[in-house]
Amino acid sequence: MAVLPSELLQSLEGLPGYDASAFIAAHDSEDRITSTRINPFKFASEAAQTQLLKHFEPAEFSAVPWCDTGFYLSERPSFTFDPLFHAGAYYVQEASSMFLQQVFKQAVNGERSLKVLDLCAAPGGKSTLLQSCLDNDSLLVANEVIKSRAALLADNLTKWGTANTVVSNNDPRDFNKLAGFFDVMLVDAPCSGSGLFRRDPGAIDEWSPENVTLCSQRQQRILADALPALKEDGILIYATCSYSAEEDEAILDWLMEHGAFESIGIALEPDWNIVESKSAKHGVNGYRFYPGKVQGEGLFMACLRKKEGEHFYQKQKQGASLISKQDSLRMEKWLQPEHGMAFVQYKDDVIIFPHNLLNEFSILQKNLYLKKAGINAGQLTAKELIPSHALALSNCIARDLPAIDLSKEEALKYLRRDDLMVNVDRKGWNLMRYEQMNLGWAKILPNRMNNYYPKELRILKEIQ
Ligand code: SAM
Repeated sequence: MAVLPSELLQSLEGLPGYDASAFIAAHDSEDRITSTRINPFKFASEAAQTQLLKHFEPAEFSAVPWCDTGFYLSERPSFTFDPLFHAGAYYVQEASSMFLQQVFKQAVNGERSLKVLDLCAAPGGKSTLLQSCLDNDSLLVANEVIKSRAALLADNLTKWGTANTVVSNNDPRDFNKLAGFFDVMLVDAPCSGSGLFRRDPGAIDEWSPENVTLCSQRQQRILADALPALKEDGILIYATCSYSAEEDEAILDWLMEHGAFESIGIALEPDWNIVESKSAKHGVNGYRFYPGKVQGEGLFMACLRKKEGEHFYQKQKQGASLISKQDSLRMEKWLQPEHGMAFVQYKDDVIIFPHNLLNEFSILQKNLYLKKAGINAGQLTAKELIPSHALALSNCIARDLPAIDLSKEEALKYLRRDDLMVNVDRKGWNLMRYEQMNLGWAKILPNRMNNYYPKELRILKEIQ
């Protein structure tokens, strides 16, 4: 039974929607909620999504009411041993966090061609969700300040497969070089983490009132550093997984006192049981998620419009370095027709990036440290393209490339980088596929198969 810090419980008394006995009971309960979110770029139709969900049987599924690609599962499957997890078919995400889709949909209201920044993005749960809300002409910049976490973020976005994505590894203050560049900014701030106590009881010992205060100061610093990059009339979405008002509503008041903002209200269905709060001084709307009330973990989210700010001004258009026309023609067969992509030379590799976002790409490349941009297609030598893993998982890869369909057992062997015997005459690069989803590449040689699944991603865990 989790023993919650008494100082936390005291500090929550009187907060909107807080019910001490329901809150404590939810933390004492052994029930664990499992939810996943489907990748709409890989499973576009409802029929395909239902098919994917059936694949989790005997677990039954039901919809997360505030997110149309989110689903609860009645039991937790082993995601590690599901090849479709490694193919980026879905993301395992806590359900409350999926409220971001509702906020985005209501606040952004169908606007297209947006530049969106997810400032504190690793491991990428909210980035993959934001990406799913964007049209092809929009650009997502997913940023993470900690290097090792930025690598994980890049891996998760590679699995998601979109080309209109950039992963950067920068401190929030680096974004002040991009004043007024972004239309939407998500700050899912590092916090004291009380909202995750149910899922991670180990975090309880790290909680203290002093840490709440430190987190609140850090949240203010992060916002102050990054906000210049949001344009006038841009949308700021602020989130934490803390229940403490100091990190939630008080930050909204701090924003109102350090800039010109207006609160954006989000329409809620009563049966969602999400609690609307108002900040004490300026009445800014916030949305609180309490386990016991909602089927999800603790979360706070708010949305504001920035009422003054710069518009990004660029003295000179930048140019990305494109590969030659002849090489572009060699690349065509790897992509679906009418892909709208440009082929950019980046060191030894060719990067696939949306043509109409090339200028933004150059601006970002000049001002940030980019960990990943678009889809790395691989190395184009005089003889051939040595295709990269990211190309295999991308949503724009051609559908008629040579591929080998694997059984589940074979797919897991492939994902472990074990030796695999496949009976095909076709030599050369082959996609390794499971249930129509690409897992990666293999090169078939006259007497063996070379497994090109990336070493650092291979499954290490033994089947129980
Ligand atoms: N948005 C992520 C998701 O949905 O998967 C979770 C983000 S987590 C709540 C906060 C992130 O902020 C962490 O990845 C952490 O490394 C990062 N972070 C920590 N200190 C930071 C700082 N001073 N500035 C910016 N980000 C920071």
